[in-house]
Amino acid sequence: MSSPLQQLVAEIEACRACALPHQHRPVVWVDARARILIAGQAPGRRVHESGVPWDDPSGDRLRTWLMLDRAAFYDKRNIAVAAMGFCYPGAVNGADLPPRRECAPLWRPRLLPLLKNVRLTLLVGAYAQRYHLGAAAKQTLGETVRAWRDYPAHVMPLPHPSWRNSAWLKRNPWFEADVLPELRRRVSSALR
Ligand code: SF4
Repeated sequence: MSSPLQQLVAEIEACRACALPHQHRPVVWVDARARILIAGQAPGRRVHESGVPWDDPSGDRLRTWLMLDRAAFYDKRNIAVAAMGFCYPGAVNGADLPPRRECAPLWRPRLLPLLKNVRLTLLVGAYAQRYHLGAAAKQTLGETVRAWRDYPAHVMPLPHPSWRNSAWLKRNPWFEADVLPELRRRVSSALR
């Protein structure tokens, strides 16, 4: 007999709530034992094709930030991945569209309570920050990330690790100097 979480994952995988210009492929990577939840934006094309979250250059940079190798990152007892949109939303002029609005309100209120062992939630990008922090999110992603000390220790706002944000990372050296050491400390503590 499957668990409530397994049943919900099966429901999500069968979801066709959005009209998409391509095949639906919800990517939800969860296990009730996971200690860290990564709340990102939505799968890109490569992840849409592989079905494996963060299996792309952004994922490589994220793993560097977390100081986790692929084996630790993809061990579902460690990490759960539930983006704000589970399906690839498509792209316009080479840029991925935002996560589908329908997805988070439809699934997160049912999914998050089943991830009972999560000790740390990483809010990767403005969509996840606005959803999880609500009114506490600042006007811009940069301001929210910079205010990381103002939020509870079990949430950490991060920029998206996409190459598109390389210029932002260069302009904001405090992120590598101040945020990454604390992020690594919290990740290590959550997985201990
Ligand atoms: S993006 Fe979310 S709501 Fe839309 S079809 Fe995929 S799983 Fe369903």
